[in-house]
This record gives sequence, C-alpha cells and structure tokens, in this order.
Amino acid sequence: MIAKIGAKSMKGIYATDHYNNGDLICELEGTELSVPDKYTIQIGDKQHLSVTEPYRFMNHHCSPSTKIEGRLLVAAKNITPGQEITFDYNTTEDKLACPFTCGCCGKKIEGKLFVEESADIEQ
Ligand SMILES: [Zn+2]
Repeated sequence: MIAKIGAKSMKGIYATDHYNNGDLICELEGTELSVPDKYTIQIGDKQHLSVTEPYRFMNHHCSPSTKIEGRLLVAAKNITPGQEITFDYNTTEDKLACPFTCGCCGKKIEGKLFVEESADIEQ
C-alpha cells in the first residue's frame, strides 16, 4: 500500500511497503476531464484523469521512483518504505496546466511538447 501524505510544506506521497522495479503499484482512479489541471494525469489525447487521493499529490522527479503506463502506476526502481513516490511529468503530459521549474535540476517542466525544444536552449 502507498498512502502516506507528507506535511503541508512537503506534500507528497511516500511508500509504506517495498516494491521491486517493474511491480504494479496500483491502477489510478479518478474522474476523466477533457482539459488538464494541476492534479490531472494525461492518459490519452484530451483525456486527463483527475486522480483520487493520495495519488493526486505525487510530485515530479526527473529520476522518478515510478512511471505511469496508461492508468497503471508501476515501480521504476526498487522502492523502500519511506521513499517518495514520484514520476516524470514530462512523460505523461503534452502540456502542463501549471508549468514549473524542477527542484532537482532547475529544468523547466512544461510537458512533452516542450522537451526537445528546451533541450536545445543554452542557459
Ligand atoms: Zn529535475
């Protein structure tokens, strides 16, 4: 099970069990919307899942602990209890509703459509 929501200042979710790389963690549930918002995950063309708690609080990471395949949340590395559950927002979203600058690398996270473009920009 995964369901530990961090304190307000560090809102995120954390594993309570062990998972091996490739393990299915769960199927994400929620309401399907046609437009993205801060808590949706894109699952198809104009299909955005407004994910239920606690999964709506998954944070982005460029070297994440999980990946999302359709609606499935799958471990992308071996996960130990207490480790944060993260995924790479650039792998699911065409265009983020709320783009932001990544806390781990300083890269702008805007969505798939921007990945190649931003890789060419010299800072
Ligand atoms: Zn990063």
